[in-house]
Formats: sequence, structure tokens, C-alpha cells
Amino acid sequence: MGIVDTLGRPVRDIRISVTDRCNFRCVYCMPKEVFGRDYRFLPRRELLSFEEIERVARAFVGHGVRKLRITGGEPLVRRDLELLVARLAALGDLDLTLTTNGALLAAKAKALADAGLTRVTVSLDSLDDEVFRQMNDVDFPVARVLGAIDAASEAGLPVKVNVVVKRGVNEGSVLDMARRFRGTGHAVRFIEFMDVGATNGWRLDDVVPAAEIVRTIGAEFPLEPVEPAYRGEVAERYRYLDGQGEIGVIASVTQPFCGDCTRARLSADGKLYTCLFAVRGHDLRALLRSGADDDELGAAVGAVWERRSDRYSELRTEETAALRKVEMSYIGG
Ligand code: SAM
Repeated sequence: MGIVDTLGRPVRDIRISVTDRCNFRCVYCMPKEVFGRDYRFLPRRELLSFEEIERVARAFVGHGVRKLRITGGEPLVRRDLELLVARLAALGDLDLTLTTNGALLAAKAKALADAGLTRVTVSLDSLDDEVFRQMNDVDFPVARVLGAIDAASEAGLPVKVNVVVKRGVNEGSVLDMARRFRGTGHAVRFIEFMDVGATNGWRLDDVVPAAEIVRTIGAEFPLEPVEPAYRGEVAERYRYLDGQGEIGVIASVTQPFCGDCTRARLSADGKLYTCLFAVRGHDLRALLRSGADDDELGAAVGAVWERRSDRYSELRTEETAALRKVEMSYIGG
């Protein structure tokens, strides 16, 4: 039995951001007006090296973590990412996954699979090319993301597809996505638009409640709920009654799941966050670079977790949404 926090929650899952840079400018995540030419991204020396990331990951595995997700920013813009995957895969029998926008995935899928990645999540917000280009705001076509999903699948990686749903922007794509991926083996997960960071102009009116998404899809393709596979599973899952697979919804706004949250997050510059909506992190890079050994690192990480009391989503109001929270591109989605 590993450690638990002040609310009795174990640590099972760590999300590792390997870069704060991205080749997309999704309007709800890294809007161009903020993340433009003058934006100061982290300089290279401030990023954790692969060796440093591996040490932090090992410390978490020692405390009971069984699931590692590499994210960003766009993780595939970090050079030689498969070398990090190989290091993390060697830490044990873990669920080792990656969240990506897919732009660079087709070329990398085989190397990532060979390095020991167990599966991949590809973000794709619409099948309508015009809507998708507007949302990614770099004119990136849907067809290339669909090609990347096929390439990942051919490389032997199970694929999930993430769709962030924003009222008035892509809610019309929900049914298209369900239709397109039914029967392919790729589960689609619909995510409520969240008030992460402080730059995406979040308003409660922009959120399409998960219950509405399930109703929309269920009206065309009847669904039934699936029992959670484990404590802390983020997506609420539903299966198609005709056996064509399943969908998930992530209802962080309308049905917060803080009580079961077993996730830690490591930013690209080595800060440890115990909530996606945190304002401050704990500086592990300073510890790593001051010569701490693995026992000291493990103890520091454990102490942070044992003090954890975050439950932001359960306390969310229009006022908390305006707090200066860290950006998702920095902390990792
Ligand atoms: N670049 C990678 C990608 O596109 O998947 C990984 C990082 S991205 C921050 C991770 C996920 O967070 C994506 O699926 C993205 O759509 C989602 N995301 C970003 N901002 C969000 C928000 N405000 N609400 C809900 N999901 C969001």
C-alpha cells in the first residue's frame, strides 16, 4: 500500500509535461493573442532532462503510481521523445501513454511503440475540416490527424480520441465523431470545456454538459453505462448496445470527481502540482539539481502528496475560475 493524501486518496497516476511548446494554437488552450511571437516559452536549460524526468517518475512508481502519461504542450515537439519512453518503460509493468495532437505522430508511431509506449490518446475536436482548422488556429487539416490515428493503430498502439466540446463551436461535431469511430475499436472521450489557466476566457455558458453529450449520442445510438474499471477513472464510460464499442465523457465541470483524483502532475520545468487547477507547484528541479539522492527525492515527493488537500473542481465558482491558475500547456493536459 502506497501513501495517501489528507483526503485518503492514493497516488496512482502521473502526468508528465515534457514541453510547454505546441505546434497548434487551439483557441481554448493556447490562444494566439497570448501565445504569440513575443511569448516567452521555457528555455531549454529550464526543462527537465530525460534522466531527471526518469528519476521523478521512479520516485512516484515507488509510491504506487502505475500509470504514466506524457503530455505537454505538444510532447512530440520534444526531440527524441522515444528515448524518454524507453527509459520510462524500463521502470516496470506500467500503463505508459501519450497525449498528442497527432501532427507529428504518423512519423513517430512505430518508434514510440518499439520503445515501449503502451497506447496513445489523440486529440481531435471535429471531423469538419473548417471547424477543426478554426479550432487549432494553424490551419491544420483533419485528414492528417486521421492518418496519424491509422499509423498509430498500424504500429500496434491502441488509440483513444479526445474531443473538447465547446458550446457554439464544435457541439455539432459530437455525433459525427461518435459515428466515425464506432466499430473502429478507438474509444472517443468527450471532455467538458474547463476553466484551466487564466487565458482561455472560460465561461460556464461555454460548457456543454456531459449528460447532454450522452443524450445526443444515445438518441441515435443507444448506450448503457459501463462500471468504472478502477478507482479514479476520469472518464465515465458508456457502451453501444449494438456492441460497436464505447465512448467516455469527462465531466470535470458538471460532475467533479476530486474525491477519486489520484493524479499528480509534473511540469516541463520540474514543478510538481497536485491539481490541474493549481496556482503553485513544488520545485523538484531545484532538489534534483542540488544533488539529492533517490531516497531524498522519494521522501520529498511523498511529503508533498501526504499534505495534498486540493479539490478545486468541487469548489469551482465563477470567481475561482478567474484565479491566476497555471496554463494547461505548461502543466500538461
Ligand atoms: N498537445 C497535446 C494534445 O493536443 O493532446 C497534449 C496537451 S493538451 C493540453 C491535452 C488535452 O487537453 C487535449 O485533449 C486538449 O484538447 C485538452 N484541453 C486543453 N484545454 C482544455 C480546456 N480548457 N478544457 C478541456 N480540455 C482542454
